[in-house]
Amino acid sequence: SSEQIELDTGLSRRVNLVKPSKTVAISDQATALVEAGVPVIRLAAGEPDFDTPAVIAEAGMNAIRDGYTRYTPNAGTLELRTAICKKLKEENGITYTPDQIVVSNGAKQSALQAVLAVCSPGDEVLIPAPFYVSYPEMARLADATPVILPASISENFLLDPKLLESKLTEKSRLLILCSPSNPTGAVYPKELLQEIARVVAKHPRLLVLTDEIYEHIIYAPAVHTSFASLPGMWDRTLTVNGFSKTFAMTGWRLGYIAGPKHFIDACNKIQSQSTSGASSISQKAAVAALGMGHAGGEAVSHMVKAFRERRDFLVLSFRELDGVKISEPQGAFYLFLDFSYYYGTEVKGFGLINDSESLCRYFLEKGQVALVPGDAFGDDTCIRISYAASLSNLQTVVDKIKKTILTVKAH
Ligand code: PLP
Repeated sequence: SSEQIELDTGLSRRVNLVKPSKTVAISDQATALVEAGVPVIRLAAGEPDFDTPAVIAEAGMNAIRDGYTRYTPNAGTLELRTAICKKLKEENGITYTPDQIVVSNGAKQSALQAVLAVCSPGDEVLIPAPFYVSYPEMARLADATPVILPASISENFLLDPKLLESKLTEKSRLLILCSPSNPTGAVYPKELLQEIARVVAKHPRLLVLTDEIYEHIIYAPAVHTSFASLPGMWDRTLTVNGFSKTFAMTGWRLGYIAGPKHFIDACNKIQSQSTSGASSISQKAAVAALGMGHAGGEAVSHMVKAFRERRDFLVLSFRELDGVKISEPQGAFYLFLDFSYYYGTEVKGFGLINDSESLCRYFLEKGQVALVPGDAFGDDTCIRISYAASLSNLQTVVDKIKKTILTVKAH
């Protein structure tokens, strides 16, 4: 029972229900190998391999030099919130006022606060799988129940609106969408979002949290559509975004949420009792980032071009590999490959490969490549490769994966 768990660990029921991040476990194992002198190539992290563009870094350094180092308003500076409203209007076609924005220490924090703000114990949070690792745990932290809606590689990992409709109950409170998707790189076409919106519209209690952090890392002809811009959805949508991915600012810790004031006030209240406002320095840097032009301008399109080259290289390389299934990613910087063809194999000197976790362990130990098991994202048939790495490293990785997997086949 839950009380028993509490007694056993000395920790709260809530924390016992939450799973530790598997991405962290594999990174730790990879780091331990690197420290022991093994030349592991790490493709497990969800982090751009570029430096923060110079104008942004400069703005941050100026903020420090100017003594701009105090608390800001909890919801973020008016300057930044105004710049965010302008961005959301011009790039996403959604209209907000600064009091409908809360700036936070990252999209992850914004998403958690939104879940805490709208979900009561027993509420259901609908999460299309494969999902970003934290969504089900966020639901659990709010004492809500995650309801997983699986989408297979043959559906290009896109949620089927009919499946959504069949899973809705009077307890359904929140649907979490992520496009472009971590871990699959899938981008929801506008028509599909419209179909989802039609289902949402029939359930007055259901809200949508849309995580649009990869919106600009997208490969034409794919186009990003903001859920809140769809007819009738503004009132029902909480839009989460951040600076980590587009602007290579993971360490600056800056994100935000936009939505109807009633919900945003609730997010602001939670934040005011947990961390207060985001870093004043990062907020100055973020204003500079939003000033770089539409979709981040030159500097961002340069990074996106590099990601696209890598995606094309990986897709081409893995299409040549027997038994591996691919759905070509349209955005973000991940490739989610179905390797289940190789499951059920006993490898001498290693053991049984029978799921995504054992396969990733095999690639790490025998191929010296760190990847993330799909199991962490709710799909055990796949593994995730992050291509936020140089083309030459990716070339080496492809060679190593091919070499080690062919050994598996030979057994
Ligand atoms: N949302 C998604 C889908 C992500 O992939 C990530 C990072 O991996 C985050 C949110 C976290 O973003 P932030 O660094 O802004 O907290």
